[in-house]
Formats: sequence, C-alpha cells, structure tokens
Amino acid sequence: MDDCARLSELVSASRRTVVFTGAGMSTESGIPDFRSPGGIWSRMKPIYFDEFVQSEEKRREAWTRTFSGAMRWTGAKPNTGHYAVARLVARGKVTAVITQNVDNLHQESGVPAAQVIELHGNASYATCLDCGLRHELEVLKQSFLGRGEIPRCRDCNGLVKTATISFGQAMPQAAMARASEAALQCDLLIVLGSSLVVYPAAGFPLLAKENGAKLAIVNREPTEQDKFADFVIHDEIGRVMAALSPLD
Ligand code: ZN
Repeated sequence: MDDCARLSELVSASRRTVVFTGAGMSTESGIPDFRSPGGIWSRMKPIYFDEFVQSEEKRREAWTRTFSGAMRWTGAKPNTGHYAVARLVARGKVTAVITQNVDNLHQESGVPAAQVIELHGNASYATCLDCGLRHELEVLKQSFLGRGEIPRCRDCNGLVKTATISFGQAMPQAAMARASEAALQCDLLIVLGSSLVVYPAAGFPLLAKENGAKLAIVNREPTEQDKFADFVIHDEIGRVMAALSPLD
C-alpha cells in the first residue's frame, strides 16, 4: 500500500480528526517560514512585546513594517493543502484546525473561523491590548500613512496591535485551552508542515498521542516527533493531502 493510501485509511478509521499546522503549510502559498534562512527574522530584528508597549518609536516601527508589507504574513492565497483540510472539515471528519500560522489562510480556504484555533494569533487584523476590540488594518492604515497616527483604540484609547502573538508576549490562554481540549478529544491528529520544535505549541500532537490518538506527520523534513508517530511522510503537503480518497 502506498503512503497516501495508508494515510487515507487512518482518516477513514477516525471518527474525530484534528489537524495541526505550521509554517510548512503556507510555504506552498509562497509565505516563507519565518524561522528559515531568508525568512523574516533573518532579515529584520523582532520587536518584542514589551518594547511595543513601552516605546512609541517601536510602535511606529512595527506599524511601518506591517503597512509596508515587509512581513509578508498576509496577502497570499490558500493552496491545495488548505483546500484539502477545508474539505475534511466540511465533511465533519476534521473537528478543529490548530495552527501556528498567523496568515488567515485556513479561514480563507473555507474553514469556519470557530473551528480554527490560532496559537500565535492572526496578522490580518488588529486588536486593542486593553479592551480586546477588533480593528481592521485598512482603516488603521489610512490614518497611519495619511496623518502619521499610531493606532489607538476608538473605544478606550488603548494601544492597538496586530492580533499576532509577539516575541515575549504571553500565549493566548483561551486558544491554548481549546487546543488542549481538541487534542484530548481526537482519535487522530495530523501534523501538516510543522517541524514541532516550538513549544508549547508542539506539545499538542504528543498530548493527543499520549491520550491514545493516532499521530500522523506530513512534513518536508524529519521532525523531533517522527519516532512517536503512527504514520510519517516527508513530502509536499499539497500532494499528499490531494491524494486522500474523497470518501475518507
Ligand atoms: Zn480598547
């Protein structure tokens, strides 16, 4: 039996699958892995959360990066792999997508936002750090570029920041709790495009496995957790996922 057929069989046998995605999911959409050579953090220094909060100069720098498109976190299109995951969600096979990505591509491929658990936030909008109100980037961009205004909350005047989790910022508790619950309730967890080295996010596949779920890993490179997995394939996600039988 070839590899894709074995993965199909695992999916068929599952009653509740959870998908866990990392940067490799979106490299096939042209978004570079931010930790790789040529990725964003090899080209510019991260702005830590405390720096953003404490320094107007750093906030100006952060927003300049965001609005110049330098981060390349958004604006890409979902790829074959995203659409394959969205089909599994639509059929009720996949109940949740836990993602380390901030690019909003799972939602854009058709996965309902309520079923996407974002561990590192979302770069396609901003939120107030004080009251949590959502702010659209297009609106903030106009006043930043037009009048040089650093975004402030229209309700409470709090600091506004893209909805990503920055270096030095606490992990989002609600998302972490939902990811734990999803990992504990699934009977199959499929890792797509994560090298599983960034914790605590990388702990969820192991949590599922230790709780009795099957673990499948699709990644171009070997991962730290290959040795624990029931199925491993080192290949392009789009190709593997597109080959899943449509009846799974
Ligand atoms: Zn506010």
